[in-house]
Amino acid sequence: MGLGGGMERLIDGHKRFLAEVFPGRRDQFHLLAEGQAPEWLFITCSDSRVVPDLILGTGPGDLFITRNAGNVVPIASHDVDGVTATIEYAVEVLKVKSAILCGHSDCGALKAALDREALEKLPKAHRWLHHVEAAFSHRQPLNPADGEHAELASLIRGNVVAQWMNLKTQPSVARAVAEGRLTVHAWYYDILSGKIEQYDESMRRFLPLVG
Ligand SMILES: [Zn+2]
Repeated sequence: MGLGGGMERLIDGHKRFLAEVFPGRRDQFHLLAEGQAPEWLFITCSDSRVVPDLILGTGPGDLFITRNAGNVVPIASHDVDGVTATIEYAVEVLKVKSAILCGHSDCGALKAALDREALEKLPKAHRWLHHVEAAFSHRQPLNPADGEHAELASLIRGNVVAQWMNLKTQPSVARAVAEGRLTVHAWYYDILSGKIEQYDESMRRFLPLVG
C-alpha cells in the first residue's frame, strides 16, 4: 500500500537509521534515554536549509533547539509563547552555558517583511512577522559579497541583532548573563558559502566565526 505524501522516503530513512546508525551508537542512546544535558540553546529559523547538527558537527543531546519563522524572540512581556518558555526552561532548568541566535541568508520571513502584500492570505504569519519589524532599525552595512542579495542580507543581519537584543532582555537570560553563567551570541549563516558570521558587539558588525 502506498503511503502517499512522500512518506516512503522518510520510512526508508528510518529503516536505514535502525539498521546502520543506531546499532553503532547504542551506548550513547542508552545514556540519552535517561536524560539530557545540552550545553547550548540554539534559536533559529524553521527554514529547511538550516541544519544545525550538520553545520556544527553536533548530534543527539548537544543542542536544545527552538525554531520559528524568522528566528524570532518575542519581546519580554507578560504574554507567554513557545519561544520564551523554551528559553526559560533551557536557562533555568537545563542550565545551558551559551545561547545562540542564528539567522540565515535568503530568509523568507524577512522577504515577507519587505513585501507585506504576499502575506495578505496568511493572517497568522502576518501577525507573527510584526516581531521582525525591528530588523529595519538594526540594518547592517551592505556587504558586496552578498551580490544582488545584499539588501535582503543586511536586513536579515539586522533581524539577528534585533532578536538577539530581545533574547538578552528575557528575565532568565539577563539574570544568567549577570551571574556569569551564560553567554549570548548572534550568528548569520550563509547558505551559499556555508559560512557563519558572528556579531561583534564592541565593533557593532558581523565578523567571520572562523578566521
Ligand atoms: Zn528563515
